[in-house]
Amino acid sequence: MKRIAILGSTGSIGTQALEVIAANPESFELEVITANNNAELLIAQALAYKPNVVVIANENLYDKVRDALQHEPVKVYAGANALNAVVEMGTVDMVLTAMVGYAGLLPTIRAIEAGKQIALANKETLVVAGQLVTALAKKKGVNIYPVDSEHSAIFQCLAGEFHNPIEKIILTASGGPFRGKDADFLRTVTKAQALKHPNWEMGAKITIDSASLMNKGLEVIEAKWLFGLKNDQIEVIVHPQSIIHSLVQFEDGSIKAQLGLPDMKLPIQYALGYPQRLKSDFPRFSFLDYPQLTFEQPDLSTFRNLQLAFNAMERGGNMPCILNAANEVAVSAFLREEVGFLEMSDIIESCMAKVPYIANPSYEDYVQTDREARERSAELVHK
Ligand code: NDP
Repeated sequence: MKRIAILGSTGSIGTQALEVIAANPESFELEVITANNNAELLIAQALAYKPNVVVIANENLYDKVRDALQHEPVKVYAGANALNAVVEMGTVDMVLTAMVGYAGLLPTIRAIEAGKQIALANKETLVVAGQLVTALAKKKGVNIYPVDSEHSAIFQCLAGEFHNPIEKIILTASGGPFRGKDADFLRTVTKAQALKHPNWEMGAKITIDSASLMNKGLEVIEAKWLFGLKNDQIEVIVHPQSIIHSLVQFEDGSIKAQLGLPDMKLPIQYALGYPQRLKSDFPRFSFLDYPQLTFEQPDLSTFRNLQLAFNAMERGGNMPCILNAANEVAVSAFLREEVGFLEMSDIIESCMAKVPYIANPSYEDYVQTDREARERSAELVHK
């Protein structure tokens, strides 16, 4: 029985994780759920799934959540510090990091310091501070189980092969809603068009990242740290059907892939349940429904964000942190319809050129870099 804390239970990953936990009561116990602003859903989840602790990050909503749950046997806390504290509780075995963005970094570090196993959905944590976080996990003997479907696929291909060196990994990308389009088209796309992903239902930020291919760039950096790879061991291939979730090539030339319908519940369940494969009733894949699985090169000159992510990884140090912060600001501005789709890349590129580079950042350097990159990017949004 694993006792689970879900950071970000009201999001796309969080709500699916709750379903997985509820469907496997013999394997999982829900200990903690958290949200940022969505107090209504958090209250409804507390009533339905009966965790022992609830945290609302926005302190202004504390009274509302506490009042609604006053007759329930559940503790209610508020604020970002409470998020950092609940992951350390003795009653938690595993923390699912399903918050979006940089805000996931500190609670993940706290959870690792407290020796909790991590099911990692929050890829931004490894993009911003992959070296620091993976070194800390190693020191503490903590495993980081990937939830991202591509990284879960690679992890599943590696099961039973951990002693065999990887030659390279191949991350698949759907190509998003604008696959095959040129820059003239992208200049005019709207928020509504960008929020329509062909294969996956996800939160708004990752959906925009998928449309701009930044999501794949973040995943490349995430993979580097999760699997201890050199930069030239990571390839990206566009696979529009999203059936092959990623592949590993070993030193004998053999390639292993993991396949399935696009459904995040499977990688969530695999990460929570590892090393067991729990029985599920998720829809099954049939080859006859997909007689053609196709592959293309990603278009790095039109989808510049992916190239910028490769550049940030090559440069190392605090550059991926700068990339991430600038991207978070640019995506929020795009979602508020303050900048166009292609302007997001301009903001990120310019921010990467302006924020001071640090080759070997400490945690404090990452915090400072994130702050500075956000300020610079905000200026670029409003110029
Ligand atoms: P959502 O936007 O759907 O959900 C985000 C969750 O985080 C919500 O519970 C939200 O609370 C909470 N949250 C947001 N900001 C803060 C904050 N500052 N402090 C505390 N809590 C916060 O995101 P997704 O579920 O789509 O994605 C979550 C993470 O998982 C991301 O890092 C994403 O890249 C990754 N991921 C997602 C996939 C997917 O299919 N969705 C696939 C692979 C990875 P509230 O609801 O109150 O705003």
